[in-house]
Amino acid sequence: MGKPKVAFYWCASCGGCEEAVVDLAEDILKVVEAVEIVFWPVAMDFKVKDVESLGDGEIAVSFINGAIRTGEQEHMAKLLRKKSGLVVAFGACAHIGGIPGLANFVNREKIFDWVYLNAPSNDNPGKIIPQEKTQVEVGELTLPKFYDTVYTLDQVIDVDYYLPGCAPPPDLIMKAVEAILSGNLPEKGTVLAPDKALCDTCKRKTTKPEHASIKEIRRVHEVMLDPDRCFLDQGIICLGPATRDGCGERCINANMPCRGCFGSTSRVEDQGAKFLSALASIIDMNDEEEIKRIMDSIVDPAGVFYFYSLPASMLRRRLDI
Ligand code: SF4
Ligand code: SF4
Repeated sequence: MGKPKVAFYWCASCGGCEEAVVDLAEDILKVVEAVEIVFWPVAMDFKVKDVESLGDGEIAVSFINGAIRTGEQEHMAKLLRKKSGLVVAFGACAHIGGIPGLANFVNREKIFDWVYLNAPSNDNPGKIIPQEKTQVEVGELTLPKFYDTVYTLDQVIDVDYYLPGCAPPPDLIMKAVEAILSGNLPEKGTVLAPDKALCDTCKRKTTKPEHASIKEIRRVHEVMLDPDRCFLDQGIICLGPATRDGCGERCINANMPCRGCFGSTSRVEDQGAKFLSALASIIDMNDEEEIKRIMDSIVDPAGVFYFYSLPASMLRRRLDI
């Protein structure tokens, strides 16, 4: 029997998840030794027809990163699903929508208007915007359909496992690869990271406010940040109470608050709503006007609370556009 076949693919993503695979450093040699890579467009010269020619289920596992934003991404996700025994949603964008998912606060028309017509850096006198079909002398050119809404991977195909993070850290990737290769897999649908909140392991948790104590919300550039004190206690939004553990507190260690890239624990349905409720419990005000003043001081609350998770949230997208 040959080595298990593995595919990597990227959808709406920044490329950071591809870097995360390379970040395995010398461990990548162990992976390459143990598997046969049959598709990895960012790193190796494979074609779509190479995937099409494989039998259904012939790929042992496909790691797909990025959210679903275009018709081509949906097509490739469905093709890889058909050809794969297992599909892993790799990274925050595939898992919960990620940064590309913030586009669900607008729609395709608004994005195209800004990007191709109204952004100050534009030079587009012909007001040309991309079309799905364009007739040129030599024939018809086509571009994938650009959707109004950004989707998580599991809103488009069935997903077996989730590797969270922006990007997933090397130790979690290696644990996932080892579990897949040994067949020692948890229940389908599992997020391959500890099912507890980031605050549970954060070294600043002893200073985390338990009861109403915040009188003001501030932004990181407005404060000399104390590297040992809980961000919330300094009036800085930190999504740790609503975010799954397992990242190694990368942002906290760099003296930056958590933005929530690991998504929530299994007990939380909506990461943004969970954080809002955590925040409400530590705001030290009974006066409605004062509470409004504090909440109004948060610039772009929906964007902050759903920084990574809007497509996976109960809101999913803005409707009144
Ligand atoms: S809110 Fe942020 S800084 Fe405070 S304990 Fe939780 S993760 Fe750590
Ligand atoms: S601290 Fe939060 S945003 Fe930073 S890597 Fe960890 S989960 Fe992601």
